[in-house]
Amino acid sequence: MTVSTPPLATDAARAFLAPPPKKLWIGGDWVTPQGGYFTTSDPATGTPLAEVARATKADADAAVGAARAALSRPDWAGMTPAARGALLWRIADLIEQSADALAEVETLDQGKTLRTGRMGEIPGAIAQFRYYAGFATKIMGQTITPSITYQPAGKRVTAFTLREPVGVVAAIVPWNSPLLMAAMKLAPALAAGCTVVLKPAEETPLTVLMLADILQRAGLPAGVVNVLTGFGHDVGAALAEHADVAKVSFTGSTETGRLLLGAARGNLKKLTLELGGKSPAVVMADADLSLAVPGVARGIFGNCGQVCVAGSRVYVHRSIYDRFTDALVAQAQNLRLGHGLDPASDLGPLIHARHAAHVAGFVTDARASGAQVLTGGGVAPQGDAFFHPTVVSDVRPDMRLMREEVFGPVLAITPFDTVEDALSMANDTQYGLAASVWTENLSAAHRMAADIRAGTVWVNCHSYFSPELPKGGHGISGWGTENGPQGLENYLETKTVCMTI
Ligand code: NAD
Repeated sequence: MTVSTPPLATDAARAFLAPPPKKLWIGGDWVTPQGGYFTTSDPATGTPLAEVARATKADADAAVGAARAALSRPDWAGMTPAARGALLWRIADLIEQSADALAEVETLDQGKTLRTGRMGEIPGAIAQFRYYAGFATKIMGQTITPSITYQPAGKRVTAFTLREPVGVVAAIVPWNSPLLMAAMKLAPALAAGCTVVLKPAEETPLTVLMLADILQRAGLPAGVVNVLTGFGHDVGAALAEHADVAKVSFTGSTETGRLLLGAARGNLKKLTLELGGKSPAVVMADADLSLAVPGVARGIFGNCGQVCVAGSRVYVHRSIYDRFTDALVAQAQNLRLGHGLDPASDLGPLIHARHAAHVAGFVTDARASGAQVLTGGGVAPQGDAFFHPTVVSDVRPDMRLMREEVFGPVLAITPFDTVEDALSMANDTQYGLAASVWTENLSAAHRMAADIRAGTVWVNCHSYFSPELPKGGHGISGWGTENGPQGLENYLETKTVCMTI
């Protein structure tokens, strides 16, 4: 059985997907690429969706040139902070007006359910622009009286700081939440006054191209944001090495993050790296299972586990282990796989069949080493990219399934006896992106939250996001923090002006 594509509900999505091929957005114009076009397809069915420009290094040079020119042009550099804030708000309004079409195209290109896009990710993108719109008018320096004693007789010394945009930003985003990840970078970068070259993942270029059209309609000056679709090793690498790019804001795998460290070396680019995870969930003996079971299930199966913070290791107190495991397995088995546009689907496909095979490899290896597959474990009949929600027990700490990011709907479940054991197992990883703790005990919640090494710890919830909540990785999960006031800092430099007066 393979799935078919339900009809699109919006004319705007249909119109966007129609030929001609999608060009690059550089300097406020749709530009023919130097490297031809590639096809982006629906992961659920394999059906081609659109031809999309394949940017090359020459295109990267043009886009960075446009961004560099826009940085100091009066229509952007001279725009008041209030006008910049209003512009961000206008972008949010236009995304909201196009939300249905954006959600449909995101589902077609990425596979996620329409509900995920419509209820979570598109509103999340809107919220990013509204949140950072307010920051544009609140970027301030300090005045300082320095303790300098060697100024000429009769003179005084005073100082102040200026906050300046860091410059041209290369924003490189992954395929799991394309529009939301783009918004998380664009909104603070624009609030700070930077200019941007945005590169979506080659698997999911479409909604970012729709966003380019929205930015244009909102009145963003030419060249302030440029969009390069294309491949990571190719145009992504060209941006990462580019001498006129001051900052790379990257979300993606730890492996690519490491490559960017090397690429940034030439001009010592600033880097924000939001990378992979192997996040634990700890379910204490007193947990409210009416919250914990669906919460842990959502934490790993949401977006088919293709979420950086997916709770892929769950540690459950032995006294409730059997009850919890049975309930969780039942939840996994109740999830309906299907095309993301079908309202009956709880889960869509993985990003492509190759990824499903990669995910299956983890389960095969674990099984061969003695792990027990309690449910799922392989590719589902809906199509080559569909993967059954999977729960695996008896996964030893040294197995690949316990150590590496799977980025699929596969959960390793393990019992624990003492809180110390749970903590030490939760922290037995080089990653440090997120964790959740499930308990009704206030002291236990605070202690675990303090002692788990991760950028975010949720208590009695998992994968809760909002622009107000800072989000970053410890360990090999990354450098820096997005969201919140910290997210703005990524795009600002401090200049100190010290004066003898
Ligand atoms: P990826 O690292 O393969 O690709 C991410 C982006 O980097 C894509 O746009 C890709 O084209 C580009 N890229 C690839 N090679 C490059 C190179 N050499 N130079 C410059 N750019 C290059 O990641 P992915 O498979 O698209 O996404 C999944 C990964 O993203 C997972 O590891 C996931 O955990 C991570 N992720 C992290 C967060 C977070 O906030 N920490 C959020 C979402 C996803």
